[in-house]
Amino acid sequence: MDSTSPIIYVVEPYGGSIRRHNPALPLIYWDDAAVTRGDGVFETLLIRDGHPANLQRHVDRFQASARLLELPDLNIGDWIDATRQAVEEWAGLTDDDAKCVWTYTRGRESTGRPSAWVTLSPIGEKVLRQRLKGVKVMTSPRGFTIDTSLPGVDEATEGGSPEPAPWLTVGAKTLNYAANMAALRYARSQGFDDVIYVDPRTGRVLEGATSTVITVRGDKRIRTPVPGGEVLPGTTQAALFEYANAHGWRCKAKDMTVQRLLDAESVWLVSSVRGAARVTEINGHRLPAPANEKAVRELIDAALGAE
Ligand code: PLP
Repeated sequence: MDSTSPIIYVVEPYGGSIRRHNPALPLIYWDDAAVTRGDGVFETLLIRDGHPANLQRHVDRFQASARLLELPDLNIGDWIDATRQAVEEWAGLTDDDAKCVWTYTRGRESTGRPSAWVTLSPIGEKVLRQRLKGVKVMTSPRGFTIDTSLPGVDEATEGGSPEPAPWLTVGAKTLNYAANMAALRYARSQGFDDVIYVDPRTGRVLEGATSTVITVRGDKRIRTPVPGGEVLPGTTQAALFEYANAHGWRCKAKDMTVQRLLDAESVWLVSSVRGAARVTEINGHRLPAPANEKAVRELIDAALGAE
């Protein structure tokens, strides 16, 4: 195997066994809910210096996502063992960072058994480039917010659920990312690298297509939109806030508008594998590099290294 092949471990959901899977062979059956319905949850972790960064936060969110989708309880110890075995193999090949993905699906329709596996693979060129060069973003409504103030919503739900579509599991990291990927494809077709979702009712900034938005001000202040609801609680943002607060920065979760992003000294998209990508343009408005760009990067890197 060369260093560009993924390392795959299958996690038996009930038996408790972990087995290495040959990446050249198929893994999923035709009737797996991941394939037929996009029904399952996942986590993406950074592997750095021979260990998974920010592990406990990923564990917590993975378990919470599975619970929100009413998937069977995870035997998390097996996932951690599988990850550690894969990381050990990886470390024998290269010192490079890697991307680790945990996938847990509702499984085969014919057996009702969930499917579960861990992959470790190299980090793509595009991600490495965006870490260094930053990203140009466009803003957009997400497109599926339920506006409870719209006429007709009350009639549509009368006698049924007390709130519209309570089953929409925003807050879980589900496999259902096709809309996010479509938004990214559209953004690229228009010359952007990424998208920041904005609530069209309030003008409130939500999150990136696959990242959390943060702003930094020179006087050591960091801010992020309030997580929860339509904003996936990010593990990178949480690690950054904990570390930065302990090192003399003042961090706050408080909602913000696009104008506030434009007025910030720097804006960043943070996520597990890409780490921190500085936003260099929003809707064509340039955001010049701040004087403390290096310090911010070092802070985020240090936060991800701190367990
Ligand atoms: N928001 C969304 C929609 C995401 O998909 C992600 C990560 O994939 C994040 C935020 C950032 O989360 P994390 O820092 O845990 O990677």
